[in-house]
Order: sequence, then C-alpha cells, then structure tokens
Amino acid sequence: MNFNKIDKILATEPKFRTKQIGRLIWRDLIDDWGQASTLPIALRAKLKLECPLEIKAEVFKEKDDKSAKALITLEDGLNVETVLMRHQGRNTICVSSQVGCPLGCVFCATGKMGFKRNLLTGEITEQVLFWSRWLKRDEVSLFEKRELRGISKSSPALLLQRRETGRVDNVVFMGMGEPFLNYDNVFEAIKILNDDNLLGIGSRHISISTAGIVEGIERMSEDMPQINLAISLHAPNDKLRQKLMPIAKKYPLAAVITAARDYVAKTNRKLMFEYIMIKDVNDSPEQAKELARLLKNPLFFVNLIAYNPTGDLASSKPTQIKKFKDILMRAGVQALERYRFGQDIKGACGQLTSQNKNL
Ligand code: SF4
Repeated sequence: MNFNKIDKILATEPKFRTKQIGRLIWRDLIDDWGQASTLPIALRAKLKLECPLEIKAEVFKEKDDKSAKALITLEDGLNVETVLMRHQGRNTICVSSQVGCPLGCVFCATGKMGFKRNLLTGEITEQVLFWSRWLKRDEVSLFEKRELRGISKSSPALLLQRRETGRVDNVVFMGMGEPFLNYDNVFEAIKILNDDNLLGIGSRHISISTAGIVEGIERMSEDMPQINLAISLHAPNDKLRQKLMPIAKKYPLAAVITAARDYVAKTNRKLMFEYIMIKDVNDSPEQAKELARLLKNPLFFVNLIAYNPTGDLASSKPTQIKKFKDILMRAGVQALERYRFGQDIKGACGQLTSQNKNL
C-alpha cells in the first residue's frame, strides 16, 4: 500500500473527496480502487496506478482460531509482524512500531534482530487496516456458511462467533519495536485510528506499551491522556532489570516509577505493569515481595504473563505464577494473569521475522 501521492492527487479535486476517500478506505474497507464506484472513473484509474491499496502479507493461523499472525511486506521489502487475538468476543490487534528494535531485551526475538528503521505512520495504520479487511472477509464467509447450512441465527455458538468477527475492538502497541522511540509517527497513527470518520477506535481501546522511556511517559500524559499506558518491568530491582533489559541502565527503576506516579497523578488513569514470568530468573517469592514494595499505588496493577520461550529461557510453571500473584495480592497490589496467545504461530514478537531472510 502506498499513499505518498494521495495528497497531491486530491489537491486538484473538490474538498469533499478527502473525506469520501477516507471513508472508502477505512469504513468500507475497499482493497481495490475498482470497488470505489462513487468516484469518477478517471480518478479511480489514477489512484489505482499511483496509490495501490494492496497490502502484501502472509497469514499464519493458530490451530484453535483464537489468534493469527501476519507478516507484512513493506514497500522497501522489509517485513513487519502484526497479530490478531480473539478473546471473549473481542478482536485485539497487536501492532509494531519499528522494524526490529534497538533495545535488545534478552528475552525477546525482536531484540535479537537489531534495528532497521522506524515505521511510517501509514505503515503502522496499515497493520490495523489489514486485519479490518481480514475480519470483514471472515464475517462474510461466516454468514455464507450459516446460510449454506441453514443454521438458526440465534444459535448461541454462532452469536459468540459473530461477535468475534467483523471489526477491530482494541489496538495494542506491543509488537516489534519501542513505540516511544518512534513517538511522532505513533502519535499520528493513533489520531487516524481514533478518528470517528476513519476507523473510530475509542481512545480507551488503544494501549501503548513501553520498556520505560521516561520522556515518552511524560509526553504521553500531555498529548494522549486517554490512551492506556503499560510499562514493561520484568524485574523488581535494577540489577536484574539491567541484565534483562539494557535500556534500564539509562532509565533506572526509580526514574521509571517516578514517571509512572506522575502519570497516574496527572491523568487519574490506571497504569499496567507487564511482568513476563521467566523460570528461575524473576519468579521467586522474594522477588514478588520486592515487586510489591515497588508498586504500592492504588492505580498501579500488574499483568503476569507466562513467558513464550524464544531461546534458552523457560516459562515459569503455572503454580509458580499463581504463588507470585498471591504474594502481590496479599501485599495489596492488584495482579492479573494474562491469557497467552499464539503458541503455534510463534506468538512472541519477532519470531516470524527472525526466520525471514529480509531482516
Ligand atoms: S521487548 Fe520490546 S523493547 Fe525489548 S527488545 Fe523486544 S520489542 Fe524491543
């Protein structure tokens, strides 16, 4: 897909065309200008030539149909990953903000690849557009299957399936890259996703996850206070955090927690801390107590995520995760265990791309 020339083409068109075309792309989800029957034929031909709508991607589906991962090929031939997660009747899209990542967290497949470049605004929104089109096709196919089989429209199983088709409900910036190192393009992409005339995804349904870039947390509390913020913590002290996440040398825990406290004081929003549970690395009862001391704040909560192994490290056992969670809860820290998606589609970010020769 390439919209670089669209402003130039629309400059000679009546003003209403911009809104009309935005609607065709984002609401009607056309994937070929031939479908834009409300546009003059000559304009359609020009757009087809200069602003192709095709998104080149390969999709890998999980066996249980609860998630799918797409490897999108960008204009310059590089690849980027995006994931669709379907859970409790909601469609959540995990988007990437960079090709690769410069932060090199030791537990992360993307971190091992190094960094290629920031994604442009259009390359970020394209990931959501890709899944929106995919879900629309899925909905049509479900409808056709139902009609073919003559199944009742009120069947409970079908109603649940129906809710899981159709549209994107949530977008999370938790794919490849650190969103705050590409702040301006991420900010512009969120404006497009949020725009009621375009995709219309509510602010409260968009989340950004950061490895703890303090300036980004500060800017976000000013620029987009309604967007959800998550901070990847993964360790209860600087010594371990610096081993797992080299960026922690630049942003020690004291600075990250101060920025987090300022964020909740300013926005009055809840703030999520993500904590990947890695066996014998960060999952002991002592570490749970240390984490509880660090995160005492009524608006903080912890999301415990079983690690999706990508190398030598292993995931904590479910019993260990439960023990860890109970210690946090007893100490007055809200904690949840997050459902783990994408085991057989290599759900940890970067795993597909790292096997691909283009990165
Ligand atoms: S975990 Fe996130 S910040 Fe760390 S290397 Fe991976 S993509 Fe980058």
